[in-house]
Amino acid sequence: MKILRHSQSVLLLQQTSSIEFPGLRPVFIYSKNLENGPKDDLIENVRVRESVNWAETDFLNQKNVKLIEAAIDHKSESSINVYNPKDVNAETELIRKFDMVNSYAVARLVLTMFQRSFKTNDSLLQGYNFNLIEAWGGKLRIDAYAFDQNMPIAQYSFNFDTNINCIDLGRYQIDGKYHYSCRNFDAIAHETGHAVFTALRRKHWNKEKDRETYALEEAFCDLTCLLSLLHQLDVCQALIAVTKGDLSSKNFLSQIGEGLCHLQHALKGLRDLNPDVALRYEDLVNRKDLTAYQFGALFSTAFYEFLNQLYQSYSHPDSYSQAETIHIIGRYLTDLILISLFRTQEEEVLSFRRMASVMYDTIDDLEFVLPGCGKVPSDDIKQQLYDSFEQRGIYLL
Ligand SMILES: [Zn+2]
Repeated sequence: MKILRHSQSVLLLQQTSSIEFPGLRPVFIYSKNLENGPKDDLIENVRVRESVNWAETDFLNQKNVKLIEAAIDHKSESSINVYNPKDVNAETELIRKFDMVNSYAVARLVLTMFQRSFKTNDSLLQGYNFNLIEAWGGKLRIDAYAFDQNMPIAQYSFNFDTNINCIDLGRYQIDGKYHYSCRNFDAIAHETGHAVFTALRRKHWNKEKDRETYALEEAFCDLTCLLSLLHQLDVCQALIAVTKGDLSSKNFLSQIGEGLCHLQHALKGLRDLNPDVALRYEDLVNRKDLTAYQFGALFSTAFYEFLNQLYQSYSHPDSYSQAETIHIIGRYLTDLILISLFRTQEEEVLSFRRMASVMYDTIDDLEFVLPGCGKVPSDDIKQQLYDSFEQRGIYLL
């Protein structure tokens, strides 16, 4: 019974995605002090109309799953505008509750992933007690339908004076249909990445952000989404099935970012993490017309290539599952990027080259053991990182 209490349906990919992938799936939520709302020791929902009874709302019921899928696919009336006060019925209420639970569950999944990284790498963190509540000055707030007007993006905000840090997940209209960011796994994961980035670099918040540092933050948030997908073993299995083990092929993993990027034609292609995209640092660094997202995609693309290189080099299907191999690589890369970010937290300006260099040095301190392969020599991993970033023009310092 206890497991059932912690299982909820989560929308894996974005509502607006053209990528073929099963949308809803049950996940086990590990959470301390989980309460109705839902809320726990780190997260609270704000401005909710009513608290969701976590134990009793059964989203896994086949009938409910069908209703939610229909709303997401715009096949039912309830998809028109479930937040219209005049349009309240049992179906729209169920979907509103689902939206709250879904937003909470994705944010919780991301925070748990990073908390595990901090806990297992305690010795590398010089006694730094990574306490998110202390770093934020309070809980992370999620507002799953904050705006009564159309808002084309989800956003994270942190108020340095009041310590209020909040993820706002708005709604928007395309061709007369309403879409909700709270149903986009990647949008929620991306914004939660901002919250983690802010916790580590709070002292630099509110300062005029250096363009490249800001782009790196956006890249970190896109990578947060990527890593939180790899954190789920069944997603790794699906990835191997879709790509047949060739991660350089176009796949749902290489196309994630922040929900709406595929709707913004100007961004199309640039946000993808596909290694075939021929982008180099020197081509982009002085282009003031690029957004932080577009510029940041260069770093995340190099990172994805690094992931791909590791997988190609160390996957041994004869002796070990490919899905588990990529799951373990994902865990290793989560540790690597988080520790590297921790090590640069005092630096106000953080360039791509600086970040890649710190990651390169950190490899020496982080043991990487793969079943079927054993302990991987750090010099080999460093070479993979060097090659992946160098081909994007991100040379090590
Ligand atoms: Zn962002």
